[in-house]
Formats: sequence, structure tokens, C-alpha cells
Amino acid sequence: MSYKSDIEIAREAQKKPIQEIGAKIGISDSDLLPYGHDKAKVSQSFINSVQDREDGKLILVTAINPTPAGEGKTTTTVGLGDGLNRIGKNAMICIREASLGPNFGMKGGAAGGGYAQVVPMEEMNLHFTGDFHAITSAHSLLSAMIDNHIYWGNECDIDTRRVAWRRVVDMNDRALRVITASLGGVSNGFPREAGFDITVASEVMAILCLANDLKDLEKRLGDIIVAYRRDKTPVYCRDIKAEGAMTVLLKDAMQPNLVQTLENNPAFVHGGPFANIAHGCNSVIATKTALKVADYVVTEAGFGADLGAEKFMNIKCRKAGIAPSAVVLVATVRAMKMNGGVAKADLGDENVDAVNAGCANLGRHIENIKSFGVPVVVAINHFVTDTDAEVEAVKAYAATHGVEAVLSRHWELGSEGSAPLAEKVVEIVDAGQANFAPIYPDEMSLFDKIDTIAKRIYRADEVLADNKIRNQLKEWEEAGYGNLPVCMAKTQYSFSTDPSLRGAPVGHSVPVREVRLSAGAGFIVAVCGEIMTMPGLPRKPASETIRLNDDGQIEGLF
Ligand code: ADP
Ligand code: MG
Repeated sequence: MSYKSDIEIAREAQKKPIQEIGAKIGISDSDLLPYGHDKAKVSQSFINSVQDREDGKLILVTAINPTPAGEGKTTTTVGLGDGLNRIGKNAMICIREASLGPNFGMKGGAAGGGYAQVVPMEEMNLHFTGDFHAITSAHSLLSAMIDNHIYWGNECDIDTRRVAWRRVVDMNDRALRVITASLGGVSNGFPREAGFDITVASEVMAILCLANDLKDLEKRLGDIIVAYRRDKTPVYCRDIKAEGAMTVLLKDAMQPNLVQTLENNPAFVHGGPFANIAHGCNSVIATKTALKVADYVVTEAGFGADLGAEKFMNIKCRKAGIAPSAVVLVATVRAMKMNGGVAKADLGDENVDAVNAGCANLGRHIENIKSFGVPVVVAINHFVTDTDAEVEAVKAYAATHGVEAVLSRHWELGSEGSAPLAEKVVEIVDAGQANFAPIYPDEMSLFDKIDTIAKRIYRADEVLADNKIRNQLKEWEEAGYGNLPVCMAKTQYSFSTDPSLRGAPVGHSVPVREVRLSAGAGFIVAVCGEIMTMPGLPRKPASETIRLNDDGQIEGLF
């Protein structure tokens, strides 16, 4: 049997006008700001008007440690949203927007897959409603204003060797990682070393995704540390007086984007911070607005649960004052096999022993999520090559941890395939057993926060950090930043900091190489490994084959 590609399925979508989708969740035409016929932003006045309503229930979709075999968190998020609607619930989904640059490297796709997709998928992966362009512009304005400040006399006394604010562009361009700026003579300023990150790594992105409203956005932008003086005291964005104009540039980007699934159910697609040096979740404003208009809101966190769910709980939920009622942990038979030692080329063969061996990874994630006080259900995202015996092995393993694993066939069948998962999720949510709490309090010292995550979530024996790092953390505590949560930046492929250690490793150490302060976003980043904030393109980039066909359709993107 042959299956259609994601793009073929997306092109056949029977989309409804976005006004009809808005009507499903009680957003009238006048509160929608349409971008074409199938996308709209939700007006700020509507968002303000629903603040007193009761919240719906929040469901987080996360996953085991990813493998090249593919897990399908977004696909499952979309499938579950459609499944909930199918069984008669008022449900919607909230996911991240895609970054433009990476699409031209490897084949893109951040809108789900198979019969569980959000449309219009090409636009979601390209310019969409321009949010990322606005973020690039706001970030660039601050970059320009810093160098302009230095040029006109440097009243703030910025040490030009210590400018912390880099530049951004939404493109994979390794040539820009480190540059020399202001060359060419007196009228071009003072030469200094600088560099570019990709837009999704901008602190402006993290801020937009954590801000509660425009006032909060402006305050947080002002809090960004842009540089240091010779005496190491910080210079803030507000010292450069950029936060007002940046907020103006971001005004529309702050409003959530409404689109639809293949089954015409509502979806907010809004914001997309990196999942390593930032928290990797869609915007707080989209999630909170969704909770006001839907009874069940399904959302996704980037990477595996050791990073994505941990940050969702300890950073996003803590800061936004929201709490999940259930967690759906996505596992695939293929990924279990890879965690159990099978090579990618051999994934097509039945191998129950390898599935059993790989389940240790699943088990640890289950325990971890439970430690946040939230009930878990495992979703086995079904691949058509999975055998019944392999699926049964995952179910039996989950049962030994006291949780149910439900086979979900949304990729192949849409909501018909995910209805059993939806039924189970409703049962868990409605039982009201969640008792969510972050795993460390605000008052804990910064080092102890890192230590807590490393020991309780990664099951490491110790955190390694030299005195320079420990002293830096203490200095930040003295400067009033001690109550911030920590944002761990480590490999997504393992519980440890070694990407090749699959399964459920123990006895490892977590070396903290560097710590960074994102004062505007409001977290401390602990860098535990090589972290790339400006990707490059591969030898044969997808962009070589991307083109418009004679019908004006995009080829080669997916
Ligand atoms: P994640 O959100 O975890 O990164 P996605 O949901 O975006 O993963 O899925 C990654 C890719 O895997 C997509 O191209 C999707 O079409 C594919 N995929 C997901 N689930 C399945 C499945 N059950 N069968 C086949 N392909 C799938
Ligand atoms: Mg995803």
C-alpha cells in the first residue's frame, strides 16, 4: 500500500474560511484580523474581554528522547486535538511557528504529518503572518541602536569588547556566526567583533513567548542586558531607550495566529523559541487565550520530556501561572527499538526484544512526569510498519509503571485513529487527579536548581562546574536574579550530556560549561554541551530543489 506525502494530503485539505473556525470557539468576525482567507490574528480587545472566564484544561504533549526514527509530537498534538473534537469536546491545539531558515537546509515541516496536520502548511513554514520578521526587526533595531549609541559618544560607557547583544537573521548562515563589524573608517564607528544568531534564538523571541501582555512585553524588553561596562556592571536595553520602539514593531506579532487542522478544528500557532537556550514552547498569550475559549487545550513542548516537559513545567507554567491536567508522552515502536540498540536501517524488522530493551527510556520519563504531580498516558504513535507484538510490548511495559499506553493511528486515519487516545485523555483529565508543582521553588539557589534538575530528571550523580561558574551564579543572586528558573541547554538525544548514551543512563556527570543570563526573558541558561545558535546548511541543501511548478505550487519544501 502506498501513502500520500504530507504535502499531497495538505493540498487536498477542504479548508473552511477562517471566520467559521473562529466562530467554533466564539471569536466573532470583528475580533479576527484576517491574513488572507485561512489565517487570522485574534484581536487584543477580544483577548482582554475573556480574561474573567474560567480556564479550560491544559494537556501537554511531550516525548521520549528523540531518535532519528522520528517521534511525532506535533503530529500527535494535532491528532489528539482532532480526536477530542471528534468525541464531542470543545478542544483546540496550540503549537509553535516554524523557523524559515532550516526549511532550506533539510526538508521542512512543523505542521504535523499524515492526516494530522495544520494548514496552510506551506505558509506556516515560510513567512506565515510575519511574526518572525517582526522579531528580526525588533532585535535588529536594538542592535543598530547599541552601535549608534557607541558611535555618538557612548554615554553609557559600554565596553565594546563586552557587547552581549548579537544580531539575528532567520536563515541558516554559518558565515555570519562571528563577524567584524564597523569596518571602513571613522564614519562607520568603532570596529568590534560581533556575530549573528538565527531569529528563533533571539531573546526577543523568548520574551514574546513569555510575556503576558504588551505592557509586560515592553518591561521585559527593557530588562534585556545588552552589554557590560569595564567594571562589569550591566547596560540594559532601557539605557539605550529601545524598548518602546521595539514594542511598536512587535505589537501585531504578540497576537496569536488562528489556523485550522485538516478536520477544520481551531489551532493557535504562535511563537517559536529555541528549545535549548530558551524554553521551546508556543507563546503564553496563545495558551492562555486558548484556555479561555476551549474546554481542552492540547499543546506541545520541544525535544524529549527531560528538556521540553521540564522547561514547560518549571519555566512556562511557573511564570504564566498555568498548570497541566495531564501529560501525553509520545513513544514510537521504532524509537523504542533504536533506544534498544537497533540501527536505523533495520527498523523495518520485528524485534520485540529490542522494544523491551528500549523501554527503559520511556519508563524514566514516566517517573519524571509523575514527579511534577501530573498524570501521564503514553501515546504510541503508530507507524504502519509496527507489528502487534511490538505494540503489545510497549503497552505491557507501560502497565508495569502503572500507566496506560494507547495506540493512536492519527497519522494514517485522522481523528478516527486518535479517538481512543482522546477518550483516555478525557477520562484522566476529568478525574481531576493532577496536583501540579514545579520541582524546585523560586527561593532555591541557582546552583541547587541546576543540581536538582540534573539529579532528579537526568539521574546524574553530580554537576561539574568550576569556580568561575559558581561565582557567576552567586553574583547574579546578589544582583537580584536568584529567584529566576534555570533553562538547561543540553543534547536532546540522551538523559545525559552525551548524545550517544541512549536508554536510561545512570552514574553520569553533568558538566556546566557556561551560564548566561536572559534577564528579559527571565531565566538563567546553563549550557551543558555544544550549543549552536546559528545553524549552517548541509552539503546538498533542500533549497537547491525548491521551486514553483507550472501550477504555482511549491515543490521540494516537504
Ligand atoms: P516532532 O514534533 O516530534 O518533531 P513531527 O510530528 O513534526 O515530530 O513529525 C516528524 C515527521 O515524522 C513528520 O514528517 C511526520 O509526517 C512524520 N511522522 C509522524 N508520525 C508519523 C507516523 N505515525 N507515521 C509516519 N510518519 C510519521
Ligand atoms: Mg514538533
